[in-house]
Amino acid sequence: MSSESPRQPLEIVGISWVTTIFLFSTLVVSLIGGPWFAWSFPVGWFELVLFVAMMYLTGMSITVGYHRLFSHRAYQAKWPVRLFVCLFGAGAFQMSALKWSAEHRHHHKHTDQDGDPHDPHSIARGFWWAHMGWLLVKVDPRLRHDNVEDLRRDPILAWQERWYVPIAIVMGFFVPMAVGAGWYAFTGRDVLVGVLSGFLFGGTIRIVAVHHMTWFINSLAHSIGSRPYDSEASSRDNGLLALFTFGEGYHNYHHAFQTDYRNGVRFWQFDPTKWVIWTLSKVGLASNLRRIPAETIRLARLRERQRQIERRIAEDRVELSDTLASWLRELDAKAEELHLQLRTLLNESTRQARAKMHRSSEQRREVEAKLRQVRREFAATLKAWKLAHRQAMALAAAPA
Ligand SMILES: [Zn+2]
Ligand SMILES: [Zn+2]
Repeated sequence: MSSESPRQPLEIVGISWVTTIFLFSTLVVSLIGGPWFAWSFPVGWFELVLFVAMMYLTGMSITVGYHRLFSHRAYQAKWPVRLFVCLFGAGAFQMSALKWSAEHRHHHKHTDQDGDPHDPHSIARGFWWAHMGWLLVKVDPRLRHDNVEDLRRDPILAWQERWYVPIAIVMGFFVPMAVGAGWYAFTGRDVLVGVLSGFLFGGTIRIVAVHHMTWFINSLAHSIGSRPYDSEASSRDNGLLALFTFGEGYHNYHHAFQTDYRNGVRFWQFDPTKWVIWTLSKVGLASNLRRIPAETIRLARLRERQRQIERRIAEDRVELSDTLASWLRELDAKAEELHLQLRTLLNESTRQARAKMHRSSEQRREVEAKLRQVRREFAATLKAWKLAHRQAMALAAAPA
């Protein structure tokens, strides 16, 4: 068996007929069934609530569970959470959690390279390939699912893998159909119409909507938006997309710091997935939430800015004065050094807290005081660095 080789383009070896037929039939049934139902029967609040509720339950099982918990191990969760996301995640019809995580880990490992299962660039099949084309075909057997051995040990994931199809049908169709039947019976209407309403609005139409929301991350979030952390990568931060993807639109950040349980790290960024995980941790259902320190994030943004400026200056052939050039270099080095000091102090502070050392103890007070001082210096350095960036940019923008 040849080992996986990210430098060779993936080859298409056949059509995934089951997936292709499922995706197109759900689309056709939704496009015809939705308008037909609305024309034939009164569509009310129930249909809208069922659609949105099922969209959030299944869609967020993908983002909270499949993505941030299983694929990235960004936090740990108790069994009720893992069971819940395996049940409703299956109802999203996006493969089992094990397969989903395996593909997604390949995507992160080989982003913008040939080993990425839905890379929009190197396979040169573009936006639609990344959006859904890759799902319709069977690709290279080199992309094996041998990168999720850690997850296979979880009996809930193994159970979902084994019974994925029946679980998906029950959760994705039978549950909303039963809810529809129950609500229509309760309100004294035709139960069969209720079943149909559940099938369409909680089932097919919702499945199509959640599919495209997830796929937008592979297509739009790799083509439209800003790149504050890494402008060489195709991944983008896109606040508008975050609104439709349960907060997954901050994708440039996510690719830069994939182990962070948050994707939107700024307070104004819409990331309901992060809020759910945080809430789960507060009620004891999740723990060990991994966060990249704010200073590391800030440093990454400024480093990227520096790279952009250097590129711009090289392209425009602008000469920086020796003073400005050395100022930029010095600030870069100083920020790096302070960042290292900060990380050491933060680790020490965490170690002391874990050892249950009293807050008023001399060692803890000493570390806290040092932390405050280094933080202040770090903030001042970044401020000066930003100023230097602005001066360099003004020079690059000035007419020759
Ligand atoms: Zn990811
Ligand atoms: Zn991505």
